[in-house]
Amino acid sequence: MFSIAVAKCWVCPAAFSRTWELKNHLAASPHSRLCVVFVWCTDEEKVFRKMVDLKQHVMQLHTEVVDDVPTDVFEEGNGIWMALHPKDYNQIVGATPKESSAAVQAGSVKCGIRSIFSVKMKDMPEAL
Ligand SMILES: [Zn+2]
Ligand SMILES: [Zn+2]
Repeated sequence: MFSIAVAKCWVCPAAFSRTWELKNHLAASPHSRLCVVFVWCTDEEKVFRKMVDLKQHVMQLHTEVVDDVPTDVFEEGNGIWMALHPKDYNQIVGATPKESSAAVQAGSVKCGIRSIFSVKMKDMPEAL
């Protein structure tokens, strides 16, 4: 049985027949292209492999944050504003509009990313 590869990895030569397979591939090591960072964490691991992992962590350990911000801040599409590889993130997951409240809420997180990880801010999608 052959399947036609429709989702091609842009980092390595791998190709997949379904988009979600490519998404898993990009999220996994060694690419780790869907990493998101959560700067409210203090002395623990701050980088999460996927937005869903971050969300779970926040729900369990940062309930005070959850009370303060709308839950859509932690939706997958909003992860781009906390992503270490925003270009890749946008390409496979997409993004919430820059003007949305969720994106604005993530703004402070973005500043944190910049200082901690020196993410090239020019990689952030400008018009979405
Ligand atoms: Zn790849
Ligand atoms: Zn934490």
